[in-house]
Amino acid sequence: MKVPMLDLDAQYEPIKDEIFEAFREVFATKRFIGGPKIEELEEQIANYCDCKYAIGVSSGTDSLLVSLMALNIGVGDEVITTPFTFFATAGSIYRVGAKPVFVDIEPNTYNINADMIEDAITEKTKAIMPVHLFGQMCDMDKINKIAEKHDLHVIEDAAQAIGAEQNGKRAGSLGDVGCFSFFPSKNLGCAGDGGIATTNNQELAEKIRILRNHGSKPKYHHKIIGGNFRLDAIQAAILLKKLPLLEEWHQQRQNNAEYYDTNLSEAVKTPMVKSGNRMIYNQYTLWLDNRDEVQKALNESNIGNAIYYPIPLHLQECFSYLNYKKEDFPVAEDAAGHVLSIPVYSELNKKQQDYIISTIKNCIS
Ligand SMILES: *Cc1c(COP(=O)(O)O)cnc(C)c1O
Repeated sequence: MKVPMLDLDAQYEPIKDEIFEAFREVFATKRFIGGPKIEELEEQIANYCDCKYAIGVSSGTDSLLVSLMALNIGVGDEVITTPFTFFATAGSIYRVGAKPVFVDIEPNTYNINADMIEDAITEKTKAIMPVHLFGQMCDMDKINKIAEKHDLHVIEDAAQAIGAEQNGKRAGSLGDVGCFSFFPSKNLGCAGDGGIATTNNQELAEKIRILRNHGSKPKYHHKIIGGNFRLDAIQAAILLKKLPLLEEWHQQRQNNAEYYDTNLSEAVKTPMVKSGNRMIYNQYTLWLDNRDEVQKALNESNIGNAIYYPIPLHLQECFSYLNYKKEDFPVAEDAAGHVLSIPVYSELNKKQQDYIISTIKNCIS
């Protein structure tokens, strides 16, 4: 048997007619840039995320970048984030000229340890950028209290967490801005690159809208400098076809996760979901004493798997100028050496899961 990490064939097969219809709808009008599909998607995502505004952008990375720009974060400023995340989180902080300041993670959720944030705050700190890793939200109550006390912005990197909740509140609705990605491997993926920023702040929404279009408003009048951070209408049209299925897809991922929990939790450390959290399982990540051995067995059995993330960001060569060293963030470093994500995508079936479970169990005993 062969089990991929993600099965886009299985995802698209049942909806292929609708996807081609999405293409036809856009080609009927030739509104490739901006237009009704973008507006409709923005309205529906805002609604889905319990936010007043959503602004379609070119990628998850660009949603982070444009949010930092809109909040006037730049040279001389510091932004607190986690070292255990996809590169784009800290990369976007660097790209606006600000300095990423890392804080270690919690051992159970792999999310930023909110209790350690205050110690990292300096006079230069302008924002906190929590990352809702693997589909579970960070402790937003604590983070927002700290932000309020120190007058900081909060930018949620919710790229892996569309539809995740904490105490009934959706990811992307609790910070100043929420940043989402439609990269094909996210729970809601498009057919290429795409992203969206959510906010309840009208002024901020307007500024992001202007920034994504070279800071132009009205056309050819530039009060501020932006870039081309636009979402394509074709991607928006595809996403409009997929969004109605998202809750069902989440549910299937949750069912798959539950099946793993039941069958694996005695043998290995399975994901921990904190009370009050609704996790959407963008990844199902194990903590393994003998990670490399298990990975080898999975590879030999043709089972997709991935290490998110093998090198924490404070140890990346490009950030050596920040002068972090090994053991600065022991929990993140420990996680990098022990985590392994296994297939949890919606279309995964029981037979495949049983095969994965037995392969892992054979390796443990
Ligand atoms: C995927 C991801 C991004 C970047 O999204 P792109 O659409 O690939 O640019 C940013 N942060 C995190 C945590 C991600 O998982």
